[in-house]
Amino acid sequence: MAPDPAAPALPDLQPNARRDTLRLLGAAGAVLAAAPLARAQTAPATPATPATPAAPATPALPMNGNGFYRQKIGDMTLTVVSDGAAPLPALLPTWGANPERQAEFAATLAEYSVAAANTVNHFNPVVLDMGTQRILVDTGRGGTGGQLAANLGRAGIEPGSITAVFITHGHGDHIGGLTTNGSPTFANAQHLMGEAEYNFWATQASPSAAVQANLIALKDKFTLVQPGQTILPGLTTVATPGHTAGHLSLLAGSGPSGVMVLGDAGGHFLLSLKHEGAYVSFDTDGALAARTRQTIFDRIVTEGLWVTGYHFPFQALGHLRRLGAGSYEYEPTVWNWS
Ligand SMILES: [Zn+2]
Repeated sequence: MAPDPAAPALPDLQPNARRDTLRLLGAAGAVLAAAPLARAQTAPATPATPATPAAPATPALPMNGNGFYRQKIGDMTLTVVSDGAAPLPALLPTWGANPERQAEFAATLAEYSVAAANTVNHFNPVVLDMGTQRILVDTGRGGTGGQLAANLGRAGIEPGSITAVFITHGHGDHIGGLTTNGSPTFANAQHLMGEAEYNFWATQASPSAAVQANLIALKDKFTLVQPGQTILPGLTTVATPGHTAGHLSLLAGSGPSGVMVLGDAGGHFLLSLKHEGAYVSFDTDGALAARTRQTIFDRIVTEGLWVTGYHFPFQALGHLRRLGAGSYEYEPTVWNWS
């Protein structure tokens, strides 16, 4: 009998002047406060000396929530663990990149009262507790900006308790947390990634520092998998090419007791869903990414699956509904307090 994964030991939630001060900085202060935030991730719970992070000129309000969101789905427990958010000065054209459709996209943002400027980009790794397996999907940005480690701590999830890490694709905001100071962050975990995707990045003539540190250096830890493969009991990869050529999403469970972990196959939570053919500037092949989205969105609605999108706004978990042919809408789940 597996221990109840829904009830891990809670982390220390006692007020802590350093932590509270840092939380006051919030996402908006993340860039200016990168150094103090980085220290906070590695600092002991009780610093030997009083904390004196530099006060921002205009203190931000405390962040809402606590960085994670846990939901029971069928027999599994899904925990969205935020890697934080990055400032996004303008949503267009990055998240709706078709040059000839900018006015159409802007009108949709206005219709839904979604901020088009001075907003943020979210990063939402997911932990799936399934029986004795604890699977992390994508790992955030790592380094000084990544908040995954801190928020795993808040969620009561020890990095050493992760039994498998699945990587949807090789972009830096998904692989950056695989290592910490040059060592594997999830030392006990099997590392899984699509073979085509891994090889695309690992065989670059001049791989980026992130690829070098997190993919090439961990070569011996990786098990390379195929589209449509059952990689662990109840977990099947789904080919979702276009954002990158070898992008894989992950289906856990099935039907209303299942969840599609989209990775970046979801694109933008409003524009990519509502507007058939819309693509994102980071899509390697925008037309293919848009076709893939139509296929996967249709499947999610048809099968009644839960869905989570990596860049959807936190808590980044809910369902889709069909508005009409080729047009969908994301419905965030109603917040669950337990
Ligand atoms: Zn991404």
